[in-house]
Amino acid sequence: MNIEETLTKRFLRYVAIPSQSDDSVKTIPTSEGQTTLARLLAEELKELCLTDISVDEHSVVYATLQGNAEAPVIGFLAHLDTVNVSLSPKISPQIIHYTGGDVVLNREKNIVIKLSEHPELEQFKDEDIIFTDGTSVLGADDKSAIANIMTMLEILHNDPTIRHGTLRIAFVPDEEIGLCGSKVMDLDKFKVDFAYTIDCSGLGQVVYETFNAGTVKIRIKGISAHPMSAKNELVNPMLVAHDLISMFDRGQTPEHTEGREGYWWFSQASADPLYCSLTMLIRDHDKKRYEWRKQFVKDAVDMLRKIHPRAEIDLDIQDVYENIANNVVREDRPVAMIYQALEELGIESVTYAMRGGTDGSQLSARGIVTPNYFSGAFNFHSYAEFLPISSFKNSLDVTLKLIELSVR
Ligand SMILES: [Zn+2]
Repeated sequence: MNIEETLTKRFLRYVAIPSQSDDSVKTIPTSEGQTTLARLLAEELKELCLTDISVDEHSVVYATLQGNAEAPVIGFLAHLDTVNVSLSPKISPQIIHYTGGDVVLNREKNIVIKLSEHPELEQFKDEDIIFTDGTSVLGADDKSAIANIMTMLEILHNDPTIRHGTLRIAFVPDEEIGLCGSKVMDLDKFKVDFAYTIDCSGLGQVVYETFNAGTVKIRIKGISAHPMSAKNELVNPMLVAHDLISMFDRGQTPEHTEGREGYWWFSQASADPLYCSLTMLIRDHDKKRYEWRKQFVKDAVDMLRKIHPRAEIDLDIQDVYENIANNVVREDRPVAMIYQALEELGIESVTYAMRGGTDGSQLSARGIVTPNYFSGAFNFHSYAEFLPISSFKNSLDVTLKLIELSVR
């Protein structure tokens, strides 16, 4: 079996286990499928002779491959869950030799990927690509990364002449619903000098900039009254909330920003005559501006309390994850090695300031610098997700090259 076949076989084995995360569940992992996959991986890691293998109560998988050469200890991390975007949890992938034009994913249900909407297909003409059947995501986010890491371990296992440092592996649940798995990781089991996530993004993409992210909860208690005697009595919490929302610049919202522009996002509201609860997300790449945004929220709520002295207003601001680049620059070894690997492999690098977070943003906030490189797949969180086998192999090449560079 060649490397492409090994990768593909592994990938198909992992996507056959449905493992959608479920944000209505409050325990981690949020779904049984993630535990099933975690156990399968632990078994396979045993066959590949890794040590310190464990699956903890959150279904985080840890394992170590002892080094045979002097090198920094590097961690590799991928997530077990697939996203729930109201598509089928069951994934039925198909490999299609792409000959150009539109791709019919499902003749019966008339589901097609149009080339006009997905011009990125063009570069993979005359290649084998793994697609969905149109009813689900593909789950290359992030099972292509799991297959990548497992195949790398298999290659090192089969060829003891390859020099490598000590590697620590972690597979974590519930990334898609707020980086929950990396939040509960036991870092005593993941002692590394730095780490990599392999997630998202097409060929060549490098992510070491993500948002600084916070969640704000505001709870307003008004005063309810019968309308016949409401004058000077009723305090309508919804109108109090409205006054707060109107204090924020309507230009600094997700729909009006791009690149490295941050925002405030009122993302949820619920109300009745007595209470109104609001959720707001704060996002900014720049740490100083992020802190300023948090202060702006505090000042706005102080102002609101002055305008509505009879309302009770609670404010809670939580930091959720932070920009990886708060702790690392491009020239530092963990990031510089990715660029060097891409250069030596002849893959053009595409630096991407992610308008979101990765498990690496969580780990970086916890003290482990963890940049991300591409898994090779496209159109995440969509039925149009696809994985060209050549990019899949390229992503594995980067993993192997990083290991080689670390012992130089
Ligand atoms: Zn992902």
